[in-house]
Amino acid sequence: MNEYHKTAELIVQSKRVVAFTGAGISAESGIPTFRDPGGLWDQFDPDEVGTTGGLLTTAVRKPDLIRRFLLQSVEIFERAKVNPGHQGLKQLEELGFLKTVITQNIDNLHQEAGSSNVIEVHGNLFRARCMNCGRKKPLNKVELLARAKAILEKEEDFEIAKLTELLPRCPYCQGVSRPDVVMFGEPVQQLPEAFAEAENCDLMLVLGTTGLVYPAAAVPYQAYENNACIIEINPTDNYYHSISKAHISAPAGIAMPKLIDALKDLL
Ligand SMILES: [Zn+2]
Repeated sequence: MNEYHKTAELIVQSKRVVAFTGAGISAESGIPTFRDPGGLWDQFDPDEVGTTGGLLTTAVRKPDLIRRFLLQSVEIFERAKVNPGHQGLKQLEELGFLKTVITQNIDNLHQEAGSSNVIEVHGNLFRARCMNCGRKKPLNKVELLARAKAILEKEEDFEIAKLTELLPRCPYCQGVSRPDVVMFGEPVQQLPEAFAEAENCDLMLVLGTTGLVYPAAAVPYQAYENNACIIEINPTDNYYHSISKAHISAPAGIAMPKLIDALKDLL
């Protein structure tokens, strides 16, 4: 019995499956991780563009660096499409097994694939959050990226202030909004919900995450402590190897279609 059939049997025997996903599944859609050589993070220093303070300081001192960083980011998100890993998780939900996706990604791709219950511990880039009252408002991704690109491509008369026009004023209090993402050093979101899912599930699929970014990385351990079966789907060994009952050594986009096939054989 191979790892796919073993995993499929474990899923069929379980009552509540939750997935925990990380940068690896987004990387398969073309969104680079910090560890990818030659990617965005080889060209830009996370200290300069990855924190709110760094971003503000860099915006004043090196506006063109911010412009180039944001333009490259916009182009990456425009190109990034849902991949078979995201689609497989949606299918697992349709088959009645998967209840929730807990993701560390901010790219909205699980929702675009059709997953209906997504917990985003690092927020969502395509949602505005009022800095005054905290209320959130989903944004039109395609429109937002197109408008951002139009501003960022005008190298000659680029001003950082123009980017603030991209986000709407809060409809409740007229406060200024910011993207609803967790920057380095900021508290994560929905952590109690993520831990509640970890406590209530009896099987957790861990996909495309190496388990380095805390506190989110503690979620699978919480599930394990509560006697959930942990399945690791990752092309490389990672920190969850010792707590995993099965290990599928493949990217999510390769593994999920095979796992769905193995599951359908059992149904
Ligand atoms: Zn507000």
